Amino acid sequence: MVFSLRIDLESDKGIREGVPKILALLKKYNIKASFYVAMGGESNILELLRYQKKLPGKRKISVFSRGEMLRMVFFPRDFVLGNKKIFQKILDEGHELGIHGWKHREWTRGLEKIDVRKVIRKAVEKYTKLFGKKPQSFCAPAFRTNNEVVRILSSQGIKVISDFEGDSTKKVDGLINVPITLRGEGNTPIIEYLVGEGYLDKEILDKVTSAIKRKKFSSLYIHGLFECRKKIGLLENLFKWLEKNKIKTKKIMDVVDL
Ligand SMILES: [Zn+2]
Repeated sequence: MVFSLRIDLESDKGIREGVPKILALLKKYNIKASFYVAMGGESNILELLRYQKKLPGKRKISVFSRGEMLRMVFFPRDFVLGNKKIFQKILDEGHELGIHGWKHREWTRGLEKIDVRKVIRKAVEKYTKLFGKKPQSFCAPAFRTNNEVVRILSSQGIKVISDFEGDSTKKVDGLINVPITLRGEGNTPIIEYLVGEGYLDKEILDKVTSAIKRKKFSSLYIHGLFECRKKIGLLENLFKWLEKNKIKTKKIMDVVDL
């Protein structure tokens, strides 16, 4: 049995407060994980106004204070440049660092309006310049993807995605898709979803581990902003369980046909 953990980073607070916590825990249990970051940083006010569509599966848990919301609207940050050291640490400690689009909001709310080629190229160029190597993996904000996205990713040198559903890895037009097998309703992250439904950590752990036991390959995704800040205890119990049950952990990009 193999398990993969994907950690999506799309906020300054999630990166600054969440990543150090999860890195320490991953080190303690000797697990390598896959981090994906929205390379463009926070959306500016024009983007906030342009992309307002309501999304299904809205967050039930509040993660930002009013002051933080105002700060983001009026002083959006480039959380990639501003946290370069943290990203370098992710790479230095042997984890995967892929890209999670350019700006999160435009992709989830307006994929049909944006110039996909342009935003992917910007994300790949910025990554390459900052980290001295080309990104090899990509995951689409909110799993929103299509044939054009796949073609463009492939032409930009991306090899691995985790955007399509399934039980095992599959080739999609020259890319390899490693599915995220455990999700909440509306493709939400399973832990946050179950917290929002009122389940206790112990119950969530039972649900997740019994699902992992049933499959050859399992994977789930979490966020820097929520699980890495607020559910470190639950994640530690999950890592302990993986260790005790001798379940192999692999980075998304290292999962091949099982
Ligand atoms: Zn995301």
